[in-house]
Amino acid sequence: MSWKVADSLDQLRAQLNEHAPDRSTASDGGIGDEDHQNRSSDHNPWWSLAGQHYVTARDFTHDPGGGLDCHELADALRAGRDQRVKYVIWNERIMAGAGGPAPWQWRDYNGPNPHTRHLHLSVVPDARALSRIPWLLPGLTSAPSRIVGVLRRGSRGPEVGELQRVLNAWYPHDVALQVDDVFGEATEDAVKLAQQRAGLVVDGVVGPRTRALLNL
Ligand SMILES: [Zn+2]
Repeated sequence: MSWKVADSLDQLRAQLNEHAPDRSTASDGGIGDEDHQNRSSDHNPWWSLAGQHYVTARDFTHDPGGGLDCHELADALRAGRDQRVKYVIWNERIMAGAGGPAPWQWRDYNGPNPHTRHLHLSVVPDARALSRIPWLLPGLTSAPSRIVGVLRRGSRGPEVGELQRVLNAWYPHDVALQVDDVFGEATEDAVKLAQQRAGLVVDGVVGPRTRALLNL
């Protein structure tokens, strides 16, 4: 069976490697070892979309000397409130993302591995897991540039291009927008689809709530 790690996790790894090029990767991992494969784990390629199987978790090695302090990474993930987070485990604590119990609050974690040498991140098993939008990591790395202001039919410019890339990444089977920096009818329809699925007002206008939904 062919599998790959969900793209959003590879995006985060790339950002962390850029942040700390010499960090240790001794406890990094995507696919589960044999131990993992015998139990239910996000490290197994259990989720599939369009015939492709995905692993939806990655571990990141705690290496403060090498530039990646997982205390800081954990804080940054909490502060970033990224909708791709399913849960984080670090240092005997677990924190669910927006869709889980007690979102963004640390709770005691009593699993067999205390997770003091690596941080575990699971992402949500839906199209968002395949988004390569840069992760916001406040306090750890400088924030990537973000779209500001409202985008609507008739808007033009690179912000619209970024919106089109996001929509293509999030809804790969319903949306295939040309990234042309022009907010036309097809882009509006794609925005409406995203809004409808999320239960937002379906107006095709990208304001604060829709931006938050799309992690723009
Ligand atoms: Zn793990």
